[in-house]
Amino acid sequence: MSQNVAIVTGASRGIGRAIAKSLANKDYIVIANYNKSEKEAVELKNEFNNIDIFKADVSKRDDVKSLVEYTLNKYGKIDVLVNNAGIDNEKLFQDITDEDWQNVINTNLYSVFCVTQEVVNNMIHNKSGCIINISSIYAIQGGPFAVAYTASKAGIDGITKSLAKELGPSNIRVNSIAPGCIDTDMNKYLSKEDLDNIKNETPLQKIGRPEDIAKCVNWLVEDEFTTGQVISINGGWSI
Ligand code: NAD
Repeated sequence: MSQNVAIVTGASRGIGRAIAKSLANKDYIVIANYNKSEKEAVELKNEFNNIDIFKADVSKRDDVKSLVEYTLNKYGKIDVLVNNAGIDNEKLFQDITDEDWQNVINTNLYSVFCVTQEVVNNMIHNKSGCIINISSIYAIQGGPFAVAYTASKAGIDGITKSLAKELGPSNIRVNSIAPGCIDTDMNKYLSKEDLDNIKNETPLQKIGRPEDIAKCVNWLVEDEFTTGQVISINGGWSI
């Protein structure tokens, strides 16, 4: 049987890097997409024989086309797509500019539309596929100073549910994972006091690790009967 092939967007660091590593450890061929962090991407590639890297800004159609063409020309198919790339935008609602809004929506939401659209024909042809969109706890319960980010992530969950209905008959599963607070560069701006407050509000009393999200990805790629779901991995923060 040929090796499974996965694309992980925004995989040079944080959650995407942990997902790329755990799929590689499951013997997947992983195409780890990166945009700016070339050094980290090259380090990742050097760690694993079965990780390949590709530079693309996933908010740009031409870059996305190149990423998918490269993957299909070299590996022939795509079994798993993890739409992970994303940016934050911590701002008071009144201070969000049109440019901020476009930037967050293009990077977080349009990218999911665009990458998935480029990938999905191959999955439909193969009558098999697993698409995992990395959403956020904010899409479920909202978050202060994060209207643009929350809107982008709620949009992702809308894509997940509608696409799961559309692609289910082609044996393609589409799910979102909604992380709570995970220890990555995205949260570098949080003070110790902020982090302690989050821990206190979280039943499991801790901040998550990128590997906690990768474990859920590992389960979803094996599963055969879950689709259209938003899976919360947040230590109980949302209950
Ligand atoms: P991170 O900032 O460490 O990683 C984000 C990755 O996306 C980076 O590698 C970055 O280079 C990449 N990226 C950004 N714009 C891109 C573009 N245009 N094209 C290609 N790659 C691009 O943060 P993270 O915490 O690892 O975030 C991963 C995902 O998890 C994001 O979608 C984020 O919204 C989501 N998330 C994170 C948390 C958290 O607490 N860390 C919580 C909920 C959801």
